[in-house]
Amino acid sequence: MSVKQVEMVLAPREPHYVGDGFRVHNFIPSGYGLTMQRMDPFIMLDYGAKFYFPPSPSKAKGVGVHPHRGFETVTIAYKGSVAHHDSSGGGGVISEGDVQWMTAASGVLHKEYHSEEFSKTGGDFQMVQLWVNLPAMDKMSTPKYQAIANAQIPKIPLSNEGGFIEVIAGNYEGHTGAATTFSPIHMYNAKLKTGGEAQFNLPPQFNTGLLVIEGSVIVNNNEEVPLDHFALFANKGESFTVKATEDCIVLILSGEPIKETIAAHGPFVMNTRQEILQAFEDYENGKFGTLED
Ligand code: MN
Repeated sequence: MSVKQVEMVLAPREPHYVGDGFRVHNFIPSGYGLTMQRMDPFIMLDYGAKFYFPPSPSKAKGVGVHPHRGFETVTIAYKGSVAHHDSSGGGGVISEGDVQWMTAASGVLHKEYHSEEFSKTGGDFQMVQLWVNLPAMDKMSTPKYQAIANAQIPKIPLSNEGGFIEVIAGNYEGHTGAATTFSPIHMYNAKLKTGGEAQFNLPPQFNTGLLVIEGSVIVNNNEEVPLDHFALFANKGESFTVKATEDCIVLILSGEPIKETIAAHGPFVMNTRQEILQAFEDYENGKFGTLED
């Protein structure tokens, strides 16, 4: 098996706020070279690096009711907790280590907030939100919601007590992940102890990257990836190693590109401009359901 090399390491961009509760660094699609096409099917990646929010007991911070159509939103909580409600009846609170996989597909309204409990106490908040594109044939399918508690995520121990791999989606060395996906995707949290090393074998044509959430790592024994940085892999070779230079958490993303035309505008991601206009029209005509503020 040949080595999959790091193509580039990206530092986080200046953060911006989504609503008043999500302070994020955008990597996709505004990172250097990380267009929607380059990381297809991962078309958006907002990373909320660890940040302290003071208590806000009278009003939970977050983003009010807004629509989505044509893709999935995947939220991974690392610190603090997020509450979500959508117009198809999906909802819940995710906390450290949990994942929320919402398939907007034909359209939902949703709102995303710090949980009531977190708002009372305040504290460190850290999360990732990904948008995963859907193949054209699934864009208008029925919305769906997968609440994935950390306990449901398979954890594959590494040798020499080096830590473990959480398989969120896809599979790792024959162990199947917790989430179901519409196109082939592997998504892991590697939770490694200092000196721990994990090996990954992923198809060369899959778009692959990793984000260092905690600690720092060396990839293939030659490429240092510091905290809060994203490493993009070349679409060549299958195999790479990640070694922890300190206790770390690394999010690994790998997906088969869907390779269809992308027409994106605000909260809608479709294949044609006509479908975007249709989404706006349907939204204005109340076809995304109802959800209270
Ligand atoms: Mn949203």
